[in-house]
Order: sequence, then structure tokens, then C-alpha cells
Amino acid sequence: HYNFCAGPAALPATVLERAREELLDYRGRGLSVMEMSHRAEEYLAIAEQAEADLRELLAIPANYRVLFTQGGATLQFAAVPYNLLGAGGTANFLYTGIWGKKAIGEARHLFGSAHIAASSEESGHSAVPRPSDIALSADAAYLHYTANETIGGLEFDYIPEAVRPDGSEVPLVCDMSSSILSGPLDVSRFGVIYAGAQKNIGPAGLVVVIVRDDLLERARPDMPSLFGYKALSDAGSMINTPATYSWYLAGLVFQWLKEDIGGLAAMDAINARKAEKLYAAIDGSGLYANPIVLRNRSRMNVPFVLADDRLDKPFLAEAEAAGLLNLQGHRSVGGMRASLYNAVPEEAVDALIAFMADFEQRRG
Ligand code: PLP
Repeated sequence: HYNFCAGPAALPATVLERAREELLDYRGRGLSVMEMSHRAEEYLAIAEQAEADLRELLAIPANYRVLFTQGGATLQFAAVPYNLLGAGGTANFLYTGIWGKKAIGEARHLFGSAHIAASSEESGHSAVPRPSDIALSADAAYLHYTANETIGGLEFDYIPEAVRPDGSEVPLVCDMSSSILSGPLDVSRFGVIYAGAQKNIGPAGLVVVIVRDDLLERARPDMPSLFGYKALSDAGSMINTPATYSWYLAGLVFQWLKEDIGGLAAMDAINARKAEKLYAAIDGSGLYANPIVLRNRSRMNVPFVLADDRLDKPFLAEAEAAGLLNLQGHRSVGGMRASLYNAVPEEAVDALIAFMADFEQRRG
């Protein structure tokens, strides 16, 4: 079976096998990682190794802290403004789809205002704003964007500049939930990066936040203590009990990326091949279509529609019977979506393409 789920997503088979081997008895210690105290030396070694491997994979500079926290990416929609609006100012956003809209909504809900510095709404979110379209407010405290809109399948092809009209720079904040670790990244361009784990990092229940250390002093004082980047950082992400098992599994995924895949440049090449061939199959068919401009097509989430939506149900049923799972589009938009996260092997994409061609020949 191949799993194209958008999240929680497929995990590498070798990671799951390793977890199974270690499930009842972690390396002869006589207990499961799930049963370890998060303060125990052997658990701290697991947690620290995971951070070290993530730092190596993304070449995270020393002046960035890495936090392993909870509440999903959704909690970061609130935590980001709490942490960055302590000196006043307005949260600024690039609006490119449903997840960005939720982040904007949360900032407005909590702090009354949010400035949309650029939007792709007019294009039906089929192309991201061009750099020249971005206009921050004079009082911008930071600029937030969604690197890859998981539902729309719209991905930035560049890292935006976060500059106020007077030329001063503000921190760039990015929701990378569905694209982190899909390829190399220049972390130094960002103030804050956050990502829910359940796509390219590991199981649900964990969020990774990467924050530049000069931003730890900008928090509002009225913030719940668990939201605080400084408090989390000072406590090694252990203010309270962290998601210990998810953190451990994330560590196994980082090791898989390093050792089995050979790092993020190698991952990038595999992801490019996977996405290119699926989009080529869609574009070359008379039955399937994807509306996103070429340069902003997501490599991780490939939505497509069938020319006749009466074929949706048979398509999904036959795909499932062929072992191609979770191809249904998000409930808010319908159609199909194939998520091609890191753990989806190239053979899975080949199998999907062959199935799509066969289905079109028989039913198209
Ligand atoms: N942001 C993006 C880009 C996502 O894809 C998702 C979930 O799919 C979220 C935020 C919300 O994540 P969570 O369910 O971890 O709160």
C-alpha cells in the first residue's frame, strides 16, 4: 500500500520498523521510550540527539534555538503574535490560502488587527504574490507567510523580504508545516520557522519551532507561560512533559534523512523528480487538471480534479482497491490530492501515475 495522506502522513517504513524493534525494550533498558521519564538521562540523550540531527540537516545557525513543543501549528498562530508583539506594532501577513487565513484570523481575534501585506486571493490562490506586490504596514512587527499551502497546493518559489516602507527590516515568520525538510533551507533568512510534525517530521502531537535568539525578548507579558519561546528555550522544551514519543520518532526520521537518504540535497532531488512526473502526467492527460501556475506548484501536495466529478467516487474506490490510499482532496475543496511528502517513495508516484493513466483509458 502507498499512503498519500496530507497529514498525519506516511512515515518511512524503516523508521516504523526501527520503532517496532525498540517498542517494548529500548536498547536493552527493559522499558519503552514511551515509559521513560523525560528527565531521565537516557531520554535526554534521545531528545538532544534529535535536536543535533535536525540542526545538522537544516544547517541551523548557532544563534537559533530549536523548540519541541505542542498544540499543533494552530497554537503557533496565537503563540507567534504573543511572542513578537510585546513592543507593539501590527502583525503583517501574506495571504495565500486556507492556512494563512487561519493564522490571520487568530491574530485578529487576539489583538484586533492584522495587515495583509499581499494576497493571492484575486487569482483564486493560483499564484503567490510577486515580491513587488508586497507592501508592509509602517508599524509592521513581523511578516508571516505560509511556505506551502497544503490544501490549495500553492508553494512559494522564493523567500520574501520583510521590509517596512521606511526600509527597516522586520522578522520573517514562516509556517513550514507541509514543506520543512523537503529540501535545503537558508534558516538565516528567518526570524521564526514553525512546523507541525505530522507531515515531514514525525507523528502528530509535536511542533518544531526554530527561533532566532534576539527575538526571545519581544514577548507580551500577558502570555500563557507554555506559549513562551524564551521559557521553552530556557527549559530545554521541558516546561512540562513534552510529547516524548513523538520527539523520539522525529529523531528516527532525522536519522533516516541523514543516513538512508543522504541529507536534504538528496531529498530535494527525489522530491523534484516525484512532483515533476506527477504534474507531467496531469498536464498530459485529458481527464485530470491542476490550476496552479507552474512556478508555484507545490512539490508536497498535488491537488487535481477530474473533468467529470461523477468519476470522483469510482476513481477513489478503484485507487483504494489498487492500494493507493488517501487521495481524496480536503473536505473544503473536494477533488483529489496526492501528498508526496518525504516518506512517499518514488515507486508510489509511479504506481499512482500508472493507475491514473489506466483509469483515464477505461473511464475518461
Ligand atoms: N499550517 C499548515 C500549512 C498545515 O498544513 C496545517 C495542517 O495541515 C496546519 C497549519 C495546522 O496544523 P495542526 O493540525 O498541527 O494545528
